[in-house]
Amino acid sequence: MSITVVGSVALDTVETPAGKNEEGLGGAATYFSLAAVHYAPIHLVGVVGEDFPQAHVDLFRNRGIHLEGLERAPGRTFRWTGRYHADVNERDTLETQLNVFEDFHPRLPEAARKSPYLFLGNIHPALQLEVLEQVKPKFTALDTMNLWIDIAQADLRQVLARTDAIIINDAEVKLLTGRANVIRGARDVAALGPRIVVVKKGEHGCLLFVDDTVFSAPAFPLETVVDPTGAGDTFAGGFMGYIAQQNSLDLATLRRAVIHGSVVASFACEDFGPGPLVTLTPERIAGRYDKFKALVDF
Ligand code: AMP
Repeated sequence: MSITVVGSVALDTVETPAGKNEEGLGGAATYFSLAAVHYAPIHLVGVVGEDFPQAHVDLFRNRGIHLEGLERAPGRTFRWTGRYHADVNERDTLETQLNVFEDFHPRLPEAARKSPYLFLGNIHPALQLEVLEQVKPKFTALDTMNLWIDIAQADLRQVLARTDAIIINDAEVKLLTGRANVIRGARDVAALGPRIVVVKKGEHGCLLFVDDTVFSAPAFPLETVVDPTGAGDTFAGGFMGYIAQQNSLDLATLRRAVIHGSVVASFACEDFGPGPLVTLTPERIAGRYDKFKALVDF
């Protein structure tokens, strides 16, 4: 079953203890698509500027990602610059240039509107609402960030009321609900709409809340983290990709989807940019999935 993703396609400049990568391919929708396409057909909806390298467009196309919804607008591509600390769980955003993103209004082409699965990447909740006006998907998942919780919470709450799942980090749960306890916070988030709440805790893994159940998964232990940028979007791509591939929302599928999300996110951290996702194979995903199983078996 196909997935439509709406979100940023970017040129990222990233500095980590391992080095620096200038103006590389990035963006939430990029990481999501390159992860999820290992599982399901993807329709990418976003915008790039005139300066966006054709090689990146070709890369998406060669991976079989449908690009009818990727607009090329006059102006410069969205740019994001970040610097990670010696502890790569911490980072500072040095610069965000919206550029063509400033006037972006998502327009979903016919094929993208037909996808049963929809992922609303981290964009302004008002734009997420514009997407929801155009489609009636079977399943909608949502990402957000502290900025929107701070400045657009009313819109965000409207989106939440219309989504089935949210993928959110522990700090954002606290910001949105005021709860210091993440379990209580996740319950409060579910009360706003989504039946499924996935709380990411960085290198400490994640918690999956469905109805009254909780499932806990560690992050895959990596000795070398080169660049964690996009790990959250990659997690979302593996999580939703697996759900769309199985076309099921039962609890066992959702739990396995969390592990798939964690597996693909671990690959994404092993080099700068989304490159590791491009060279990934089903065999390598399966191999790490099995290692994960052994890791948590006791
Ligand atoms: P993550 O590491 O999961 O937070 O994702 C980082 C990716 O999100 C980078 O590739 C950025 O280009 C993109 N990004 C950062 N800030 C924003 C923003 N305000 N809106 C949309 N995308 C963003």
